[in-house]
Amino acid sequence: MITHSFSIKKYFLLFFVLLFTLSGAQKKFTIVLDAGHGGTDIGTNRKYSDLGTVREKDITLAIVLKLGKMLEKDKDYKVIYTRKFDEYPSLSERTTLANRSKADLFLSIHVNASPSSSTETNGTETFIQGPNQNRTNLEVAKAENDVIYLDEKDREMFASYDPKSPESLIALKIQQSKYLESSLLIGSLVEENFSGKDKRFSRGIKQADLHVLRMNAMPSVLIETGFVNNYEDASYLSSEKEQNDIANSIFDAIQKFKKALERNGGEKGHPKLAEKPEEKPLKNDFRILLMSSPAKYSNDDPALKGLNYILTIKENGFYKYYYGTTNLASVRDGNLKTARDAGFKNATSISFIPNQKLGMGYYTLEIAVTDQKLSSNSYILNSLKDVNRDKENSKFYYTYGKFTSLEEAIKTQKDLEGKGVKNTVVQKVFK
Ligand SMILES: [Zn+2]
Repeated sequence: MITHSFSIKKYFLLFFVLLFTLSGAQKKFTIVLDAGHGGTDIGTNRKYSDLGTVREKDITLAIVLKLGKMLEKDKDYKVIYTRKFDEYPSLSERTTLANRSKADLFLSIHVNASPSSSTETNGTETFIQGPNQNRTNLEVAKAENDVIYLDEKDREMFASYDPKSPESLIALKIQQSKYLESSLLIGSLVEENFSGKDKRFSRGIKQADLHVLRMNAMPSVLIETGFVNNYEDASYLSSEKEQNDIANSIFDAIQKFKKALERNGGEKGHPKLAEKPEEKPLKNDFRILLMSSPAKYSNDDPALKGLNYILTIKENGFYKYYYGTTNLASVRDGNLKTARDAGFKNATSISFIPNQKLGMGYYTLEIAVTDQKLSSNSYILNSLKDVNRDKENSKFYYTYGKFTSLEEAIKTQKDLEGKGVKNTVVQKVFK
């Protein structure tokens, strides 16, 4: 009993302190501007005979500096740059800087590309944290035995703070879900301006598991300002005037965002717009099924029409190609529209229960399909232990791992990518 009432009290104290910390009266609205890439990391780039080499790192910096100037003219804003020059701060340096400065908003500016040398694919898209990232943040907070947004003063008040206790996690969870809503709001305002003011093609809001967004304890978006391998976009992004338009559209979105927060009584990260009811995440994740085919396409195959963030799941000998992952209805509908606009007329949205364990069968990763046996000193067989080989219709199928949930399989897939084992496919095995 005593333990119980103590827990409740501690929970309310935490909750109160969090709200108080978040309401931060009279302080400047702090924005971290992150010009993507830089230094040795040039980002994506293409060479054109008339435009020269169009480099992502140069465009992102040019836009950020223009946007920063607009914001600095207004004394209500404080601007923090992750870089102002052609240098490369690491991804964790960028997020640590953002968290230390207790910023109200984090904007990362990027330039898109599809894998082919040139593409019809064009337009802007803005990423917010993916559906699984609330959990990731919680895991990070637990693992680090620390909560990244707390400064020294908060730390004293949280002397008894135990990140492993359920009460603390509940409090953190409340805060994290707030950032999802406000990230969605700033993202929509930016995309609305790109299409409305600048008459560009908006591919809408996307959710993705991007490190630079994942670690942030504030509303955060990553803005893809156009495709470097689309000629019209590349020339738009290279023009000083148009860079100014992009900066202006983001600046205007920030002003609307700040107003929305103020209208809500200054409770940061939890805005209410009269015309737009806030959106709660759905229980399930949604992916857009583009097509099902016996053919295996790599991510840069023209058959995928320039769409990024494809998840392929092999089932009963068919490869199913899914686009995007989200737990927000508005993003799901936007993804479906993007897929249909790209030419997948029969695309449909499919619901997935997050972290669902398979009752029967398992997931594995198909890492290679070959006509000849892989030699024992091949890169794959050298880097991975316990690779399975099956032979069917004179082809060799190499698979790796056994997983009970799709998320586990995807996580391992990403780990393998990091090791240089690319173009693997998640396979569902019914047994
Ligand atoms: Zn980038």
